[in-house]
Amino acid sequence: MKRLFPYFQFLRPHWLPFVGALLCGVIYGAASGFGLPYMIDQVFPRIFPRSDEIAEVGLWTLVMYVAWFPAVFALRGVSGYFNVYLINYCGVKVLEKIRLNVFEKLQRLPLAFHHKNREGDLLSRVMADTTQLQTTVLQVGNDIIKQPVTFVGAMTALVVMALKDENLAFILLSLVVIPLCVFPVRRIGNMLMTRALRMQEEAGSMTAVLSENLSAAREVRAFNLEDRELNRFRESSEDFFTARMKVIKYAHLLTPLIEIITAVGVSAAIFQASRKGVHLDTVIPVIVALYMSYEPVKKLGGIHNQIKQAFASLDRLDDILDAPETIVSPPAPKEMKDVRGEITFEGVSYSYENGDGEPEDIPAIANLNLSLKAGETVALVGPSGAGKSTLAGLLPRFHDPSEGKVFLDGVDLREFSLKDLRDSVALVPQRPFLFDATVRENVLLGQTEQTDLEVEKVCELAYADEFVKEFRRGYEERLGEDGSRLSGGQLQRIALARAFLKNAPILILDEATSALDAENEDKIRDAMTKLIEGKTTLLIAHRFSSLKLAHRILVMDEGKIIADGSHDELHRECDLYRKLYDSQFGIIHEDAD
Ligand code: ADP
Repeated sequence: MKRLFPYFQFLRPHWLPFVGALLCGVIYGAASGFGLPYMIDQVFPRIFPRSDEIAEVGLWTLVMYVAWFPAVFALRGVSGYFNVYLINYCGVKVLEKIRLNVFEKLQRLPLAFHHKNREGDLLSRVMADTTQLQTTVLQVGNDIIKQPVTFVGAMTALVVMALKDENLAFILLSLVVIPLCVFPVRRIGNMLMTRALRMQEEAGSMTAVLSENLSAAREVRAFNLEDRELNRFRESSEDFFTARMKVIKYAHLLTPLIEIITAVGVSAAIFQASRKGVHLDTVIPVIVALYMSYEPVKKLGGIHNQIKQAFASLDRLDDILDAPETIVSPPAPKEMKDVRGEITFEGVSYSYENGDGEPEDIPAIANLNLSLKAGETVALVGPSGAGKSTLAGLLPRFHDPSEGKVFLDGVDLREFSLKDLRDSVALVPQRPFLFDATVRENVLLGQTEQTDLEVEKVCELAYADEFVKEFRRGYEERLGEDGSRLSGGQLQRIALARAFLKNAPILILDEATSALDAENEDKIRDAMTKLIEGKTTLLIAHRFSSLKLAHRILVMDEGKIIADGSHDELHRECDLYRKLYDSQFGIIHEDAD
């Protein structure tokens, strides 16, 4: 139970339905555990009087006695219904809060967390594990109050009956079997928890295979990977099946075990009753009360199992909820006003983590020093893996330097609030993500201050208006989630429009690697020229033709800046630059042939 304490706080806003559920549960439990056997004990002898005791019962008296049955069941039924309804209301509310908290946490976690965890597995944690919790909440909600109260009620009825008739004292003996049930409940519960964890992990792997497959639909077809993918999914699905069957094996073992143990208790009671010559109408309420005390034990055992399975899911959710938020705003952030855009990297190193959470041996950025003047456009060139994207990612604090500092206008980036910092950096990625929304919404990205007119203006600046106007619904046309309706060039123009709208003083332009047709290339370069005006720009250049935009060119290799200068200087003095430059033009000439 201790494990669940942190979640009880989520119940606070729903205390009224929770108290209502508790009350209804108590009424239900009392009516079942105590009411039913006690009524049988009191009413049966009056309905079926022994011939030697009293005269025959009158018609209306009989009706009155018999009416006790539907009355007790009605009380039990109505209170039971409201108990389940209200407790489930609270349970599902708590669950919704947990799911929201996990989602909220996922927004705040550093990118490194997302790189480390497979998207499908995270998806499965947020959806499948919370669904597992939901099942638990619903099933446990049915019994968590009703059954313990029923148990106490039935025990009370048994004690009352035993006190009244000393011949019945033996029945208390038949309760001895109840503690015996604790052993299988505990053992099976623990076994179930490890199996449930495994099952949820397998569910995560299966979702990961599926989500990878869906996002690689093109590659699967192009490389004839259908059979390989089918095998991967089949294996994952078989592993899930095996893990699931193990859970089923243990989850359903408990009920028959407890039934067998308690049947021994009941038969001991019947045996003793017969030996003592107790009459049938005295034994029946005892058997009902015994049943009413065994049944909750069985159900509570089931709850125990369910809760153990839920713990497995909670553990997986806690992995997310407890993951450290390494990229956060300082407690008292420095105010950011009138950003000039002067950027300095001072002795900056950065290493990604390997699979074991340790820093990689070779850093992606190694002891780098660099200054960008306000309003300057600096192009980064270098082979793939040189560290260009990692360097650019330090500006919006996608990751913080492992060593050294990055300054904006002389202030360490970590002293600003994350919101202010990210508001002042606009990123034009290689392949922008399009939300499943209209063109307008995709350019606005949630900004509410900008008008429709401004959206249209920035689209014009980015040359996106040309193709948007051709859509049947213009700016109201919905774009698919993956942007498959737009060409690479069109996607980039949308990304540029977003950056125009954001109008941030610092700009990161990550040029697309894929080739563009000449018309797209010219338009994008034109848009970029307008965009970078007056902004401090870091341009990750993949096409040397873009270098004309830069005031300075830096050559990066193995996490270091190995040369800095103009095109002519670099072409003359830097071997790597000359090699990269010539090979690109070589390719272009070959293409042209
Ligand atoms: P570039 O942008 O110049 O191609 P990157 O900055 O992407 O280079 O990569 C620099 C180095 O960091 C490379 O060796 C790359 O393998 C490594 N790297 C990049 N991203 C990650 C990541 N998420 N996890 C681990 N290593 C990474």
